[in-house]
Amino acid sequence: MAYEINDACISCGACAAECPVSAISEGDSKYVIDPDTCIECGACAGVCPVGAPEQA
Ligand code: SF4
Ligand code: SF4
Repeated sequence: MAYEINDACISCGACAAECPVSAISEGDSKYVIDPDTCIECGACAGVCPVGAPEQA
């Protein structure tokens, strides 16, 4: 399953910069991952300061 960003996201943008397939974009209240593009590499989870990306 793709990764999902939970409500802990503070919209810092670090994950979007690290995603190798550009699956992450800025949403209304947090960043969001396109599940069809995500290849489950875990890079976003590794750089997030608040642990918001979780494997669904
Ligand atoms: S798990 Fe990897 S491919 Fe999926 S959104 Fe995070 S950085 Fe991008
Ligand atoms: S790195 Fe974490 S806090 Fe920053 S935009 Fe991504 S999910 Fe949100």
